[in-house]
Amino acid sequence: ATPAAVIAALGRLAGTGVFIKGGSALERLAGVTSFAFDKTGTLTEGKLELGDVIPLAPATIEQLLQAAATAEQRSEHPLARLIVREAATRNLEASPVEAFQAHPGAGVTVTAPDGAIIVGTRRLVEEQGVALPADAIAALERLDAAGQTSLVVARNGAVLGVLGARDTLRPEAAQVIADLRSLGIAPVALLTGDRSAVARTLAENLPVTEVHAEMLPAQKAEWVASRGPSVPAERAEIDLPGTDANASAEGPLASLLPSGRTGSSVAFVGDGINDAPALARAGVGIAIGSGTDVAAEAGDIVMMGAPLAPLPLLVKLSRETVRIIR
Ligand code: ADP
Ligand code: MG
Repeated sequence: ATPAAVIAALGRLAGTGVFIKGGSALERLAGVTSFAFDKTGTLTEGKLELGDVIPLAPATIEQLLQAAATAEQRSEHPLARLIVREAATRNLEASPVEAFQAHPGAGVTVTAPDGAIIVGTRRLVEEQGVALPADAIAALERLDAAGQTSLVVARNGAVLGVLGARDTLRPEAAQVIADLRSLGIAPVALLTGDRSAVARTLAENLPVTEVHAEMLPAQKAEWVASRGPSVPAERAEIDLPGTDANASAEGPLASLLPSGRTGSSVAFVGDGINDAPALARAGVGIAIGSGTDVAAEAGDIVMMGAPLAPLPLLVKLSRETVRIIR
């Protein structure tokens, strides 16, 4: 049965749009010592705006956007939605595609009637065997300096150009991170697949203690999992209902970890398809509910209302709950 303290804590969360999947998530949150945040759609609004559009001759802006929209029409990524929207605004019609492949945290590749198109990071384009000309590299450096997220568009082995996008920091992000730190949470890390220049520009306005950029989804997952298994001593002594403290060599909390959980002491906050691996491997996965269903499934706490604001209260409640159970 669910302990009364957990029920009381859940009551205090009523109306905040926070859903906790079972009492063990709250108990694990009490043992969390650090937080990691995804960038796009988590610390930022995820409402992207088009930045600089830089075609490389002989390609035109229209050809660049048309090829990008053709490649992105089946992707759910906020960058893809931005490009498809922009092309539609300009009455540029996407071509039908034969083969679509999403590369999480990197971009997309497709086969269209007029050739093979790649849209994504510089690394993805190079991995696909396309060399970047000097003017493409110069364009990427300009976008870095402007703090814009950048995408390279290539067709049939030639770079058509580079696109930039801007996002807005959530207004509550800095205060939420400051409040977590005043609760003793450290480190508070920003983990992103974006370029380090963009991550650093964003971090100037945030009291995070660490910034890690150009991380693939699997690397984010590895980072949050490697901060464990480290169940704090205090938690190992908790006498939880239904557990025998001397039952297993792995400690009394092992039975509380849903299969796949690592016992990491990191809470990961993220949204989007790309974040499911990190949500699943963190000590506590906190999904932003406006993200995809996949993210909501992988998280054990889902925030459907104000995306970040309830986090400090959640941490305080988890600690109070564990103290009461004890
Ligand atoms: P974040 O960590 O900011 O949430 P992602 O992991 O979703 O970022 O993506 C990392 C980078 O990969 C993006 O900045 C972008 O350059 C590239 N990327 C990811 N998905 C796509 C896509 N559908 N189209 C183009 N580029 C993409
Ligand atoms: Mg993301």
